[in-house]
Amino acid sequence: MKEILYKSTRSEDGALKASEAILKGLADDGGLFVPIELPELDKSMEELSKMSYQELAYEVLKLFYTDFTEEELKNCIAKAYDEKFDTEEIAPLAQVKDPYHLELFHGPTIAFKDMALQILPHLLTTSAKKNGVENDIVILTATSGDTGKAALAGFANVEGTKIVVFYPDGGVSPIQEKQMITQKGDNTHVVAIKGNFDEAQTGVKNIFNNKELAKEMDKSGFQFSSANSINIGRLIPQVAYYVYSYAKLLSEGKIEDGEKINVVVPTGNFGNILAAYYAKSIGTPIDKLVCASNENKVLYDFFNTGEYDKNREFILTTSPSMDILISSNLERLIYHIAGDDANKNKELMANLASTGVYNITDDMRTKLTDFVGKFASEEETAQTIKKIYEDTGYIMDTHTSVARCVYEKYVAETGDNKTTVIASTASPFKFTRAVMNAIDPKYQSGEDFELIDELSRIGNIKIPNAIEEIRNAEIRHNTKCETEDMENIVKDFLGI
Ligand SMILES: *Cc1c(COP(=O)(O)O)cnc(C)c1O
Repeated sequence: MKEILYKSTRSEDGALKASEAILKGLADDGGLFVPIELPELDKSMEELSKMSYQELAYEVLKLFYTDFTEEELKNCIAKAYDEKFDTEEIAPLAQVKDPYHLELFHGPTIAFKDMALQILPHLLTTSAKKNGVENDIVILTATSGDTGKAALAGFANVEGTKIVVFYPDGGVSPIQEKQMITQKGDNTHVVAIKGNFDEAQTGVKNIFNNKELAKEMDKSGFQFSSANSINIGRLIPQVAYYVYSYAKLLSEGKIEDGEKINVVVPTGNFGNILAAYYAKSIGTPIDKLVCASNENKVLYDFFNTGEYDKNREFILTTSPSMDILISSNLERLIYHIAGDDANKNKELMANLASTGVYNITDDMRTKLTDFVGKFASEEETAQTIKKIYEDTGYIMDTHTSVARCVYEKYVAETGDNKTTVIASTASPFKFTRAVMNAIDPKYQSGEDFELIDELSRIGNIKIPNAIEEIRNAEIRHNTKCETEDMENIVKDFLGI
């Protein structure tokens, strides 16, 4: 098999093995790791269509993580995708009228980030062993909601790891907050910061790039790694479910072998849709990659004008995991459409850092024809939840609704009626209040858990364990801090 090595999006040199790139998270120059060349699926869709989720995940991971042994990968996969998921299928497809919703929310925290964050701790600890690392791995994460809990759930009590999660105070849903601050595990730490998600993320990046701190940490037996979606150890496991969705449609006779499908992804940090792009690049017959944004529509503007401009009002929406003005993973796409040109990418990222804006070249724009950017307003998002519920009885969360709404707009505008997979990124129970308000304003005044019971009743869906667990859980984390104090908080927690 072809060996795949990784380099930074911001420099021409360096070629790391997958395990090294996973351990480092972010490159020293601030860039993101990308495969130097992309592999290709070495099994036919026909063969893949007969596989379980775990078997298929192996077929994808082995192409990208070429320095892991078969046993190592299968071991990581087995520990990740097990009975912590509430369905053996792991990522089932639900047909809701025409399109298929790829339900990525059957893991322990009922959102799609489990798909990657259940396996990342095992990839990381395996990578550490392979590279003779004896330090404990310290995970720092900035979250706009779902990543935090999913990372905590993935790392809690995993030996040789510690995890610190920062979230914007008031910038996540009450349920999300409750899920995080009740997290068990002595190696976990949860902190609310007085700032928005981008400030939290910038704070984390600054801590990562602090060379002095890295030395101090090393002396005390610690080193940082990242669980954010910039880690290649998160990105690649996400490629698997797009391949799986295609294989599944094929095995159920919904499509012919080779027939192209469209994929619609509710997008924030651009990790999930980038995984779809990689799935396409390695040979999955995908036509359009439809990038769905909420009212923070930086990406919509980018795909339609070629200009990325983060200088705008930050809007708090009912789909908070997509309330993002700097989509970190877009940098990988920029690098690829520049013809894998690190210098060009670096120049654009420098513009972004200094002015908040960059413009891609016409040549780069021609490489974006697979992408379609659209957005849904708050009102449209709510209406779509209500309409789909009334028409079909199926209840979606707000993020998925953004994608569903964008799907409807796209089909109405283009008449493109290819079989479509919509990435369904959270259980409606994770955003119960917004979902129930969308269905009927009479729910506005209910208590959280009243609404949860009512959602279960009207949708005829069992309340997931993740929700039942926090009904009466004890609050274990109550630290708040200013963004300037993030570094000190981390040091305190580590006792250095
Ligand atoms: C994180 C998240 C998204 C956005 O995914 P990206 O990979 O950041 O684009 C969408 N929906 C939900 C529910 C999420 O948690």
